[in-house]
Amino acid sequence: MKFGGTSIADGKKIRHVAKLLKDYHEEGNQIVAVTSALGGVTDGLFNNAIEASRKGKVSHVKEFMVDLAKKHYDAISDAIDDEKIIDETVEQIDTRIDELEKALIGICYLGELTPRSIDYISSYGERLAVPIVSGAIRSLGIRSKALTGGEAGIVTTDEYGNARPLERTYGQIKQTLSQLIEDHVPVVTGFIAESENGIITTLGRGGSDFSAAMIGASLNADEIWLWKEVHGIMTSDPKIVPNAKPIPQISYIEAMELSYFGAKVLHPRTIEPAIKHGIPVRVKNTFDINFEGTLIVADQRPSESVVKAVTLIRNVTTINISGAGMVGTIGTAARVFSILADAGVNIIMISQSSSEANLSFVVEDSDLDDAIEALRSVMHNDVIRDVVHNKDVCVIAVVGAGMDGIPGVAGRVFNAIGQKMINVIMISQGSSQHNISFVVSEKDAVPAIQLLNREFELGTDPSGE
Ligand code: ASP
Ligand code: MG
Repeated sequence: MKFGGTSIADGKKIRHVAKLLKDYHEEGNQIVAVTSALGGVTDGLFNNAIEASRKGKVSHVKEFMVDLAKKHYDAISDAIDDEKIIDETVEQIDTRIDELEKALIGICYLGELTPRSIDYISSYGERLAVPIVSGAIRSLGIRSKALTGGEAGIVTTDEYGNARPLERTYGQIKQTLSQLIEDHVPVVTGFIAESENGIITTLGRGGSDFSAAMIGASLNADEIWLWKEVHGIMTSDPKIVPNAKPIPQISYIEAMELSYFGAKVLHPRTIEPAIKHGIPVRVKNTFDINFEGTLIVADQRPSESVVKAVTLIRNVTTINISGAGMVGTIGTAARVFSILADAGVNIIMISQSSSEANLSFVVEDSDLDDAIEALRSVMHNDVIRDVVHNKDVCVIAVVGAGMDGIPGVAGRVFNAIGQKMINVIMISQGSSQHNISFVVSEKDAVPAIQLLNREFELGTDPSGE
């Protein structure tokens, strides 16, 4: 069971999580808890490390550390009753606060911040959280032990900031945890691990889900539960479609299609170990524990509707490159995409029609300047004549594995929005047929999402007809 930062944002919430773990444990389940940092802490660590390296203000570091220490002391006193456990936990937090302060002051003097030091600094969010969560569990009379990802057996490459686990991780986790869970609820730091040389590494933002999936896969768990502050994966964004519903069950493939398109509930990469070992992943709401949540499984439950969800991705720009010389010229796409890759531009969606006279793709607004700058080098040659972009757009994705091989789905999608005179700017469907993505003007995005929710009966918009 993994708990996100919002689930353990303060001492009261940590107490609630500890109680929840106690109840499931007493029902006869063997559980490993994985936690993120207390809500907002990782961001704070990143920002302060950057500020320390740029401005070198030791006084700012000290102020930050006072606030950070207070946040964790408050959590201890709200989450833990047993005096002895309080003292032990405070002592552990003091030690870590002290180490962290020294590291940040070191960065002030050095004026530089390497990827390795960023990982070291940002690991403190989780390293400060686990003693408190574990202490809260022990305070309820359940045996518990706090471990770092490295101590639990997660060993990675030294690609700081985005480290990849080595294969032997799985065996090592099994060795450290399989005995322990018989009578303990171990609490493991999400997000952080260790390189082969024992240096702290991190698995990338949101990496706690990945830690949980690795641990679940290593122990061949019955299920991996990701406790968040939402009811599960939703049919659409409830801010756009007020009656959007949680999806009770979806397949790994659908979950992957959804998370790419801004569902933001989980990153596909994080559930890879679960997919590989065929372990179901459940997204549950920490604050409404009786709600079943969303179960993500290998098999596809036959569902009435072919479409499972409709999602929106904002803050994107279309770029269209064109030129008569592109027709039949081999290597144009390869050149364009490798130039963009070298410039660090992520491409969200691609479309080229069979005329080959133009190639359209979608990037995030924040990548636009880099993309245009990079494309200058291939512009105005014989092949590419023109590069045009449009910021006033959004991507809509219609997702469902049930669309595979079913005629008429695209017809319904475009008919529904066409009837309301919504213009489609760009379209892409992969041959897996699990996702139809298209681009519309920003102003058309919300009406289009609502129309599609009605068309596929995903939850109706009360303001519509
Ligand atoms: N604390 C880390 C982050 O904020 C990891 C996580 O929460 O999953 O990215
Ligand atoms: Mg835009």
